[in-house]
Parts: sequence; C-alpha cells; structure tokens
Amino acid sequence: MTSEPDIAIIGAGAAGIGAARHLADSGLSVVLLEALDRAGGRAFTHITQAGPLDLGCGWLHTAERNPWVGIAEQTGMPVDRRPSAWGMQYKDLGFSPAERQAAGEEYERWTDRLANAPPANDRASDALDPTGRWTGYIQALSGFINGVETEQLSARDFSAYDEASSDNNWRLPRGYGTLITASLPGQAPFHSNTPVTAVDMSGPRVRLDTPSGSIDARAVIVTLSTNVLAGGAVSWPSALDPWRDAANRLPLGHNEKLFLEISGPNPFEPETHVIGNPRDPRTGSYYIRPFGYAVVECYLGGAGARAAATDGTPAAFDHAIGELAALFGNSVRSCLRPLIASDWAHAATIGGAYSHALPGEAGARSVLARPFENRLFFAGEATEHGFFSTAHGAYLSGVRAAREALDALGAGSPSA
Ligand SMILES: Cc1cc2nc3c(=O)[nH]c(=O)nc-3n(C[C@H](O)[C@H](O)[C@H](O)COP(=O)(O)OP(=O)(O)OC[C@H]3O[C@@H](n4cnc5c(N)ncnc54)[C@H](O)[C@@H]3O)c2cc1C
Repeated sequence: MTSEPDIAIIGAGAAGIGAARHLADSGLSVVLLEALDRAGGRAFTHITQAGPLDLGCGWLHTAERNPWVGIAEQTGMPVDRRPSAWGMQYKDLGFSPAERQAAGEEYERWTDRLANAPPANDRASDALDPTGRWTGYIQALSGFINGVETEQLSARDFSAYDEASSDNNWRLPRGYGTLITASLPGQAPFHSNTPVTAVDMSGPRVRLDTPSGSIDARAVIVTLSTNVLAGGAVSWPSALDPWRDAANRLPLGHNEKLFLEISGPNPFEPETHVIGNPRDPRTGSYYIRPFGYAVVECYLGGAGARAAATDGTPAAFDHAIGELAALFGNSVRSCLRPLIASDWAHAATIGGAYSHALPGEAGARSVLARPFENRLFFAGEATEHGFFSTAHGAYLSGVRAAREALDALGAGSPSA
C-alpha cells in the first residue's frame, strides 16, 4: 500500500470513483480505500441467470444532465432511453384511471404547496391535505423517493430535489452498478477490504489507520454515507463534531429491492408496472420484466422497507407475492419464486438507502460539504444540493471535492 500518497479517498462508491477519475491525470499520487471487498458501494449489480439486476441504483435519473450517461457512451455500454413504466397500472388492476388521476392530482397539489407555500416548520406532512383521500398513496411515493414518510421530511430539501430533477429516467441493461464499478480509473491503486478506523490530523499530514497499516496523506476525500459518518465505526478528531452532527440531520432512509423470478405460464408482460395497493404506505412498486428479463422487481420505501428490515426478507417476499396475487389472481403464486433481495439497512458500511433532510435541516447539506482545515474534503450523495440521493449527485460531489483538494494542494485542476 502506498503509505504517503498525496490524496487518499475513503470509500469507492460513485463519489469516490468520481473523485478518483477527476484526479487521474493530475500527476498526484492517489489511493482509494474501501471497506468492502468490492467497489461501487450503493451501486451494485448482481449477475443472475435472469439477467444483471441492480440491488442499489438502477435509474439514470435526470438523464440529460447525468454524467454517467456520457461515461456509458464512452465505454460503449448501451443506454436504454425508453420512458419508464412507473406511471402505468397494468390493465388498471386495483387502481382505476379515475383513481390514478385523483391520486396524481392530490400528489401534485402537495408538491406545489411544498414549493410555493411551505409549512413554517418545514415539515412536509404539514402540507398534506387533511381532507385528502390519497394520503396513503403520497406516503408510499414519499417512501419510494425519499426513503421516509412525510413527517420526517424537510419540505425545503424535497423541493430542491424536485426542482433540480427532470422526468428523463434512463437505464443500463447491463446494470448501473456494472457501469460504476467499471469506471474505477486504473491509475489510482484500489484497496478493497481496507476499512479506515481512525482519522488523525494532529500532524502535518492526515493519518488514516486501517487493519492493513497506516496511510499519511496530504489531503483526504471522505465519501462515507451519513449514517457511517455519524456512527461509531471511525474515530474522528472532535473538531469534526459539526460535520458529524450535520450527517445526523441527514439520515439515510429505508429502501430495499426484492426480485422475484418468473417461470412457467404467467400473465406478466415485459416493461409493465403496478403499484400493489395505492392506499397503503407500505406497498411495493412492481416493475414487471424489466428489459424482458424473467423477473418482477419490487421496490420498497419508507414503511415498507422498514418492515422488510425488521421482519426479514422472507416475510417481505411473502408480502410482495401477496400483493401481486391480490391483483393478478392466486395462480401467480406458483410462477413466482424469491430470487434475490437487498438489505441496505443492515449493510454495516452503508447503513441505509439515501439521505433526506429532517424538517428544518436542509441547510445541513452545506455544513457537511465544507472542507476542514483545507485537508479534509467531503463528498458523497448527501453533500449535493439538488442531486442528493442519486448516483450522479454522488459522482458530481466527488468531482467537486477533488477540485477542492487540488486547489488546496496548489495543483490546479486537470482538464478531465
Ligand atoms: C435501493 C436503492 C435504490 C437506489 N436507486 C437509485 C437510482 O435508481 N438512481 C440513482 O441515481 N440513485 C439511486 N440510489 C442511490 C445511489 O445508489 C446512491 O446515492 C449512491 O450510489 C451513493 O454513492 P456514494 O459514493 O455517495 O456512497 P456509497 O455508495 O455509500 O459509497 C461509500 C463507500 O464507502 C465505503 N466505506 C464505508 N465505511 C468505510 C470505511 N470506514 N473505510 C473505507 N470505506 C468505507 C462503503 O463500503 C461504500 O462503498 C439508490 C440507492 C438504493 C439503496
């Protein structure tokens, strides 16, 4: 291991890889330290017989401004630009067109209030219509989008995301995780299974302790999730308490994916979608046969994903199959088999899905993104303003932190 690099990057997710790519032609020595046995972090494509399945990020959100689209094109990785089937309810099962319209309009009125007449206390639930009929639907959507229900959500933070993002959501048939891990630049030595356990800034260089030895870097880019930053796995100088406090105010929500394998005669048509029960905040969003693969992808958020974390994956699969059987008929039970599921909530080096600001705490993103002593630079999805909670936001945060580190070291910015 290079023990005295110019720059050490902690974490090899989308942000760490973004930083490493930006630094690749800088002429500085850079090392990338990752606790897991793989790169990618919350970007993870699992290769199955049914096809490559993303357990973490899957959608190239705001695709027209998403840097991963250009990277995919450069590397010859196909990008699927078809519109998402999310808005569809296959054959109107359990959710009629009139109900979809009413629920959609109530959701739009809520997001309009968040943006244009936000509650004084910044609590997104206070903008719900108390006489509304689709609160359960809005809570389910909030779970999918934010990982929490509206009570735990800052109106200002949500509106910043809503305003920054577009409706262009593209995909990668070979997997978003495949793209992100393949984008690790060859120039930066990558050390997997190397968790940083302590950060010491008492000397002229930043000292990082790992089980494989110590590293003394001139500058360090930290890309850890907010739950890891706020937790106890790494020992930090106490001067960093304000950063950890900011991380506490930007906790990760709950989101999980379950994949069901389809076999035998079945009613499932490729590239279709149903929401399980549009009145239940716990419900799943079911993307049926994405890319034609013989799977149903169940997306859980908020209450549904918390239940999966608490009750366990088998119970979550039972719930998902039950929701599909209620819509498509009991016979589908015999053609659906649990294939694979995520468990981000229990992944020790990540600890959840993606960050949301608690009510009144949207400003914590700026606090978290500040450099410390011009030697420690913070990246990761939670440090972004409009693109937080996404893989492209994470990438852009890594590039921003890399620029800050280069400036601090007087190395200017490479053209990349
Ligand atoms: C279920 C789910 C679905 C999602 N869907 C989408 C989507 O469709 N589109 C989208 O854009 N985004 C999506 N996201 C969000 C996206 O995946 C993340 O925002 C993004 O990948 C975060 O990247 P990051 O680099 O900031 O953090 P991470 O990926 O968490 O990277 C941090 C890395 O640091 C490592 N680490 C932790 N502790 C240590 C330590 N002590 N020492 C060294 N390394 C350490 C971790 O193992 C990890 O690899 C989804 C996320 C989830 C969970």
